[in-house]
Amino acid sequence: MSSSYSNYTNSPCAACKFLRRKCTSECVFAPYFPPEEPTKFANVHRIFGASNVSKILHEVAPHQREDAVNSLAYEAEARLKDPVYGCVGAISVLQRQVLRLQRELEETNADLMRYASCLGNETTSAYGGRRS
Ligand SMILES: [Zn+2]
Repeated sequence: MSSSYSNYTNSPCAACKFLRRKCTSECVFAPYFPPEEPTKFANVHRIFGASNVSKILHEVAPHQREDAVNSLAYEAEARLKDPVYGCVGAISVLQRQVLRLQRELEETNADLMRYASCLGNETTSAYGGRRS
């Protein structure tokens, strides 16, 4: 086979390989689904469908396509792991964690304020003298 008709790699992208079609230099999937990562496309295809992914990529500006693909891949993986909540499951776990940590931070700040005001009442004896 001639290998010099384009500067493209000979192996089809993961999407074209999966879909058993010819990968051309105009392939919208090729830059984002390299052949070394076959499960990335398989997951995205299983959850969203190749034609929807293609539509999404065409609707998004080229400089944002990589982010879009990474987001789709993340969502697809989450949806496969958790068919009910998908990445919403991870989001709500993190939101609960944020709330808990905010409460903890408020309590710690309040403790700190109480401690600082106690030190203030004992004048400078806590800091002064001893060490120098
Ligand atoms: Zn391709």
